[in-house]
Amino acid sequence: MSSLPDPFENALKQLEIASDYLKLDNGMKEILSNPKRILTVSLPVRMDNGEVKVFTGYRVQYNDARGPAKGGIRYHPAVTLNEVKALACWMTWKCAVVDIPFGGAKGGVVCDPKTMSAGELERMTRRYTAAIADFIGPYRDIPAPDVYTNSQVMAWIVDTYSQLKGYMIPEVVTGKPVSLGGSLGRDTATGRGVAFCTREAAKVNGLNLKEATFAVQGYGNVGSNYAILLQELGPKLVAASDSSGAVYSKKGIDAKQLLEYKEKTGSVVGFPGTEKISDKELLQLDVDILCPAALENTITKEVAEGVRAKMIVEGANGPTTPEADKVLEEKGVFVVPDILANSGGVIVSYLEWVQNLNRMRWSEEEVNTRLEKKITDAFHAVYKESKERKLYTRTAALVLAVGRVADAIRTLGIFP
Ligand code: GLU
Repeated sequence: MSSLPDPFENALKQLEIASDYLKLDNGMKEILSNPKRILTVSLPVRMDNGEVKVFTGYRVQYNDARGPAKGGIRYHPAVTLNEVKALACWMTWKCAVVDIPFGGAKGGVVCDPKTMSAGELERMTRRYTAAIADFIGPYRDIPAPDVYTNSQVMAWIVDTYSQLKGYMIPEVVTGKPVSLGGSLGRDTATGRGVAFCTREAAKVNGLNLKEATFAVQGYGNVGSNYAILLQELGPKLVAASDSSGAVYSKKGIDAKQLLEYKEKTGSVVGFPGTEKISDKELLQLDVDILCPAALENTITKEVAEGVRAKMIVEGANGPTTPEADKVLEEKGVFVVPDILANSGGVIVSYLEWVQNLNRMRWSEEEVNTRLEKKITDAFHAVYKESKERKLYTRTAALVLAVGRVADAIRTLGIFP
């Protein structure tokens, strides 16, 4: 895996393209290329067998010029500091491109949650929370779920943080269980947002969704909810994958049944009526819409050269490398970039935070309507920018986002 590009280098290359276009001065470029705060913490955890294991955790607050830092926490064996820096950087642009009043952050713990018991995960989460407790908070930095973390992990964070502070502070994280002040609609929000972006992208490209086909790489929270919701709009799911492999059916796969099968057996592989294909084959299928919804560096230059999809809608963060972007742009593939396509999660996180701070509860319908308006408006703002300035869609999104963050920094001025 070491031959894969460094995600933070990718993020910096993207930033450079946008800041050159915006003609930002060197000082501003330097501010934007450096995270504001990086925390590295060691987490001793008593494992079920009685031994103590030390995990490494990170929290990166990339930029908070536009508001409190915001971003999820990832539990994964491949977490590195540079990955967390890249993800925190992308959160900054994501919140800016959809114009919600947050900066960007991300956290990660190097661990393999699939091999850990619930008790081990709880003790690790509580220790991680204690280690970063002085740096997070409802007006400072608000964590949320990301890869292999969920509402239960958020509940443990709320409890630990609140015990340390002496009173209940549910608004310290978003993506909580509904019983603790989580927002209705948050669990499906990222996939729903990707589906709205796909619908709008189909509209502007004249693609008839009723006759379209799509493939999803990564059948986790984002990919599965996306597939279920998009299927309702007409297109046929022909392939899906997870970390165990990919499945394909020319006739189409029922997205809901596929999720039930995965929940029962642990994987999409073996779903009746499908044949097993490789991950690369999935990414290069002759489909209308491809949704990478797993991890970074999926669509490399080599993969991009074989991509046959008309449209790529990025459910994951950073799935496409800058070198692959050049290939896709040349081939005329319509890309809805990650910071826009997968922003539904953080948009509903923002709605959760607003509900918590105002002691309000909105119906699921109200939340979904607000999400739809926010992400659809952002999609069209990015599309307009790309048409008017003749920019590749990712560049257009970054130009809008980076421009907004740079404006905020300029207006705040430099302390002291
Ligand atoms: N982890 C999600 C993301 O990458 C959600 C972040 C949030 O809700 O703060 O966008």
